[in-house]
Amino acid sequence: MPERRSGARQAAPRLLLLGGGHAHVEVIRRFGLARERHGEPLLVSPARRTPYSGMLPGFVAGEYGFDDLHIDLEALCAASGVAFRLGAATGLDAAARRVAFADGSVRDYDILSLDIGSRPSLPAGFRDGIAVKPISTFTERLATLDARVRDADGFVRLAVVGQGVAGVEIAFALRRRFGRRLGRGDGRRGVEILLVGRSDGVMATRGARSRRLVAEDLDRAGISVVGGFDAVAFQNGTLRASDGRCLDVDEVVWTTSSAAPDWLLKSGLALDSHGFVRVDRFLRSPSHGQVFAAGDIASLSDPRPKSGVFAVREGPVLHHNLRQAALGRPLRAFRPQKHWLALISLADGRAIADKWGLAARGEWVARWKGWSDRRFVARYRTVPRSGSSGGIRP
Ligand SMILES: Cc1cc2nc3c(=O)[nH]c(=O)nc-3n(C[C@H](O)[C@H](O)[C@H](O)COP(=O)(O)OP(=O)(O)OC[C@H]3O[C@@H](n4cnc5c(N)ncnc54)[C@H](O)[C@@H]3O)c2cc1C
Repeated sequence: MPERRSGARQAAPRLLLLGGGHAHVEVIRRFGLARERHGEPLLVSPARRTPYSGMLPGFVAGEYGFDDLHIDLEALCAASGVAFRLGAATGLDAAARRVAFADGSVRDYDILSLDIGSRPSLPAGFRDGIAVKPISTFTERLATLDARVRDADGFVRLAVVGQGVAGVEIAFALRRRFGRRLGRGDGRRGVEILLVGRSDGVMATRGARSRRLVAEDLDRAGISVVGGFDAVAFQNGTLRASDGRCLDVDEVVWTTSSAAPDWLLKSGLALDSHGFVRVDRFLRSPSHGQVFAAGDIASLSDPRPKSGVFAVREGPVLHHNLRQAALGRPLRAFRPQKHWLALISLADGRAIADKWGLAARGEWVARWKGWSDRRFVARYRTVPRSGSSGGIRP
């Protein structure tokens, strides 16, 4: 139960929602649907719009426009009775219950919920290349890459570093964006794509059958897989591995495994060995009971890979628990699935569905993925109001 501020009337707890990630958009939507008038929820996120990463490969491939894959957080909050402010957190003092922001401002909270996502883990001293997250800067740098490819005299060689599902999808999407590789030395222009990573094969965490299907399609698309390459630096056109091997490439797109922001290290929160916020089965910090976390930034006690599937599934439980915590009532446990569906875009009108070690490939899978992705974003564009503002009231 959070401490309440002093005053003649019992004040509503200040609920600070940090980051407009996949779990928080559902929390906000549910505040909008709630019947009762509640307290003071506030969402703070660095941009008015937040992207849905499931549609990012489609954006890169030219299937979706910028607006298609973005949720308007300000509009969603307005429709749901949740206050919205722009801001990027740069510090957290969990003992003082205070968050610091890049513009120098600070905010106190009674309950804090973190859904700030993750970023590719980049080599120390990383300077060059394009990180796929944050997606806002990725989309800008994609435009620069377009110009570079357009103006190139000969070949442009791109390395996508990271061989997980995101790396695979981005490699296929770049292939679609820039067309097929043309033969070297014939004076024509073209883009060569390498899919580079530490492991020996692609999508190490997925089933053997979908990995085989993806490998076939990578081959068909002329995307070369460079395995066993632990990229540690990229500078002046050279991508270097920890064992000293080098690749000459014109540009690198980083889709490597996820990292947490450094500022959490000094927060006082219990973190896992990678700097992610530890949560119990109620999505609550074991060190600070007023702090909740969901999505990539949360480190579940029963760990799962960083995947939007879990952020989405955590949304309803997080909403319930934030309300319950404010009211001092019992929380509900989040039970992560053991098996989850991956719909992997091949960016040529087909996709692969992968679950339980089974896999299917085809145009119908791409249509299914498109329907499911568009439906997700649409859910946060038309929020029916219950006639009240959202949030929590003691
Ligand atoms: C190319 C690509 C494709 C992917 N495809 C899929 C897929 O098909 N299916 C799937 O399940 N997963 C997919 N993923 C993984 C998925 O992107 C993540 O697991 C998912 O986005 C995590 O959601 P989240 O809610 O944790 O955070 P995000 O959706 O990343 O949202 C984080 C939010 O926090 C905000 N924020 C960030 N920093 C701060 C700060 N300091 N202060 C305040 N706010 C902040 C951001 O602006 C953003 O609004 C893909 C990833 C990539 C890179």
